[in-house]
Amino acid sequence: MERQIYLDHAATTRTAPEVVEAMLPYFTEYYGNPSSVYGFAASNQTVLADSREQIAGLLGAKREEIYFTAGGSEADNWALIATAEAYGKKGKHIITSKIEHHAVLHTCAYLEKHGIEVTYLDVDENGIVDLEQLKAAIREDTILISIMFANNEIGTIQPIAEIGQIAHAHGILFHTDAVQAFGQLPIDVNTCQIDMLSASGHKLNGPKGIGFLYIRKGVKIRSFIHGGAQERKRRAGTENVPGIVGIAAAAKRAAADMQERTDREIRLRDHMIGRIEREIPYCRLNGDRKKRLPNNVNFSFRFIEGESLLIMLDMKGICASSGSACTSGSLDPSHVLLAIGLPAEIAHGSLRMTLGAETTEEEVDYVVDVLKEIVQNLRNMSPLYEDFLQKQHQE
Ligand SMILES: *Cc1c(COP(=O)(O)O)cnc(C)c1O
Repeated sequence: MERQIYLDHAATTRTAPEVVEAMLPYFTEYYGNPSSVYGFAASNQTVLADSREQIAGLLGAKREEIYFTAGGSEADNWALIATAEAYGKKGKHIITSKIEHHAVLHTCAYLEKHGIEVTYLDVDENGIVDLEQLKAAIREDTILISIMFANNEIGTIQPIAEIGQIAHAHGILFHTDAVQAFGQLPIDVNTCQIDMLSASGHKLNGPKGIGFLYIRKGVKIRSFIHGGAQERKRRAGTENVPGIVGIAAAAKRAAADMQERTDREIRLRDHMIGRIEREIPYCRLNGDRKKRLPNNVNFSFRFIEGESLLIMLDMKGICASSGSACTSGSLDPSHVLLAIGLPAEIAHGSLRMTLGAETTEEEVDYVVDVLKEIVQNLRNMSPLYEDFLQKQHQE
C-alpha cells in the first residue's frame, strides 16, 4: 500500500489510543445515566466532576465554570447568541474580526438578522488585529468582543491578553475561540482576562463531538439547550460521559508534554517553511512568521490552483488542505486569505499543512520533495505561467 502522510491536524486529529482506552469502560460498564439515583449511575457524577476539574485546572479556571458542549461550533454559537440575549438591554453591538472561524462569523450573520450590530475588524498582512482599531470600534452599547486565540488557516496568534485588558477596561465581555490554541499554547483565563472560551476535543487527539465553553462565574448567560438540569441547567441533555472522559484525558495528555512537543513541531515547521522558501520559487508564506501556531504551515504558490495541488498530493498519499473554502462546497477563496490582502488568484493557489506530534522530519522532507515536483508540473501546464515567463523574457 502507498504510504500515507497526514498533514491536516488543524482539520482533525487521530484520537490517541490511551484516550480511547480511557473512554471504553463508559460505553460498556459504567453506562448509567449520571442523573439516575442508583449508585452505579450516580457515581458517574464523580467522573464528570473530575473531568471538569482536570480541564479547569489547565486554564486557571474553576470546575463549575466548564460547560460541556457537542464541540467547538456549539460553544461558539452559545457564547455569542446567549450573550446577545442576556445583555440585550445593555446594548446590541458585538466586535469580532474578519478572520474568525465560520462558527463565529455565521453566528454573527444570524445575530445581525435579529437586530444585533456587528463590527468586523480588519487584520494586517500577517493576520493580526489592530488594537487601536479595536479601541476605536468600542461603543457605549458594545456588549461583547469575540476574537479567536489562534487562526485555523494561517496559524496567527492574536494579542489575547491585550484584547482582554481593553475589553475589561471598557466593561465589555471577552470571548475567544481557542479551538486551535487549546492543547498547543499555554492559556490562563485570568491573566488574559477571558470571560468565555471555546474548545473542542477532536483538535487535540480527543474524540469528535465533544467540546466545552468556559464561562467565567458572574457572566450572565442563558441556557442554550432547554430540557433537563444538566450543566447547571444551562445545557440540557444526558451528558456524553465517554466523550467528556475522552476530552479530559486528551487535554491532560496534551498539557503533559506541551513544551517538548511544540518545541519539536516548531523546529519541523520552520525547517519545512525554510525549505519551501528556498526551493520553490514564486511562493508566499501566509501568516505571521513568529506569532504562529507550532504546527501550521500555509503557503500560496503563484500560477496554480490549490485544488489541483491537493489532488496531486493525495495521489502521493499526502493529506493537506487548501486555502479555499472547499469544505463548504464553494470555490470562493478563503475569507482569511482575502482579509490578509491576498488577491483572489493568489489566494486560490494556497496550501495548508498542519503537523502533529507523530510527524517526522523524514516525512516533512519527503513532502517538500513531492511538493516541489508537483508545483513545477502544474506550472508547466499553466497558461498563466507561460505568459509570465514570456513577459519576463521580453523585459
Ligand atoms: C475546528 C474549529 C471549530 C469547530 O469545532 P468543532 O468541534 O469541529 O465544531 C471552531 N473554531 C476553530 C478555530 C476550529 O479550528
